Amino acid sequence: MRLVPCPDCGPREQNEFVCMGEPSPHPDPAADLADALYARTNAKGPVDEMWWHKFGCRRWFRLGRDTASNAFVP
Ligand SMILES: [Zn+2]
Repeated sequence: MRLVPCPDCGPREQNEFVCMGEPSPHPDPAADLADALYARTNAKGPVDEMWWHKFGCRRWFRLGRDTASNAFVP
């Protein structure tokens, strides 16, 4: 089982977490709302993602992950 490093609980099994993907910036009122809400860069390489420790401390936190290797990066 893959371990996810929670800032509060330490390394825990991935099935305790929900990954919500890239954090979305505050939408620009002049921009298309659908693009602001749903368009993601889907970049290859290191990205920041929002994770929720749903079945643990219930904290939201940012975690870096390399999308090419699927490894967590500091
Ligand atoms: Zn936690």
